[in-house]
Amino acid sequence: MFKLQNLQSYRDENGKPWVLPVVRKMEKKMSEDPTLLHEYLPVLGLEQFSNASVSMLLGEDSPAIAAGRTFGVQALSGTGGLRIGAELLNKHLKYTTFYYSNPTWENHHLVFVNSGFTQPRTYRYWNPKTRAIDFDGFIEDLKNAPENSVIILHACAHNPTGIDPSQEQWEKIADVMEERKLFPFFDSAYQGFASGDLDRDAWAVRYFVKRGFELVCAQSYAKNFGLYNERVGNLAVVMSDARHAAAVRSQLTWIVRGMYSNPPAHGARLVAAVLADKQLFDEWRDHIKLMSSRVMGMREALRSELVKLGTPGNWDHIVKQIGLFSYTGLTPRQTEHLIKEYHIYLLKSGRINICGLNPGNVEYVARAIHDAVTK
Ligand code: PMP
Repeated sequence: MFKLQNLQSYRDENGKPWVLPVVRKMEKKMSEDPTLLHEYLPVLGLEQFSNASVSMLLGEDSPAIAAGRTFGVQALSGTGGLRIGAELLNKHLKYTTFYYSNPTWENHHLVFVNSGFTQPRTYRYWNPKTRAIDFDGFIEDLKNAPENSVIILHACAHNPTGIDPSQEQWEKIADVMEERKLFPFFDSAYQGFASGDLDRDAWAVRYFVKRGFELVCAQSYAKNFGLYNERVGNLAVVMSDARHAAAVRSQLTWIVRGMYSNPPAHGARLVAAVLADKQLFDEWRDHIKLMSSRVMGMREALRSELVKLGTPGNWDHIVKQIGLFSYTGLTPRQTEHLIKEYHIYLLKSGRINICGLNPGNVEYVARAIHDAVTK
């Protein structure tokens, strides 16, 4: 029995959860450090952590950072970053309409509606026929969006399809958003984890900043540090004028104060320490390379098994996609066949978590897909 559906996290090649060795090392060190107390953090969290997070997202040499137009607020992982960002945009800046991709991560709708947004809309994203992005539909929906709509954009490794826009497509998206006065809200849950390269995975966000957009971005360390249950995240805020930053910080202080007072320290201390130390940082970078290359390797393996079997159809999309998830393109009937006949569990939409695959089961899964497709 292989559960490829509800799994939201990384698994190693034995199908087991993986604690990053640099995390184990830091936790041991931290447990022996008598200067680490359990005093409250400030309302907006550990500044060293949020500054390091903004640098990681925008690049150390970002002119926006140098101009003092950016800041970060520690958040309860990616979801918490989305929530405080959405509260800020709705309660203080009076945005009411938000758009998310069809399909998207299932929590976007709930988080934004619970933050006070009253007009949920979707933009076209996945074309099941081509098993690729429906770019014309995406652009048309952005063109028809009312001014001042908030557009949720996956910074990289789109969940659930695994398909990201190309750089040229991002440029076009930015053109339309600028023209239509739409507000970008990036969701960055997989920086470094997607391609193994922190800079490449932040390309879209950096591009929008370079173009002069004001934006917010929710960052999560759940996947790239494997710190799922520690709730380590950040909301990065980029403004066009440094003079407004203090006011927005103060609004966020009230939002956090009224929701959970202040964030937890453990995971943020750990991440801040790793990001600040060259040697630890390099160790961490090796870990994310290892995780992303295992995922890419399994994509290759699944495709090559299907090609070897002569399974009808084109399976290139499996390797063109990126990140944990893949929209396989299997129909509801085919997915049911996999579940009933092979005990391979996946969503009706055909989405699988690639980490459910390992060298021991990929051939079995490919044979099952072959059988389902040729039935
Ligand atoms: N956004 C996306 C697109 C995600 O896939 C996830 C995790 N599944 C999150 C946000 C938030 O995760 P977390 O709150 O655990 O950081």
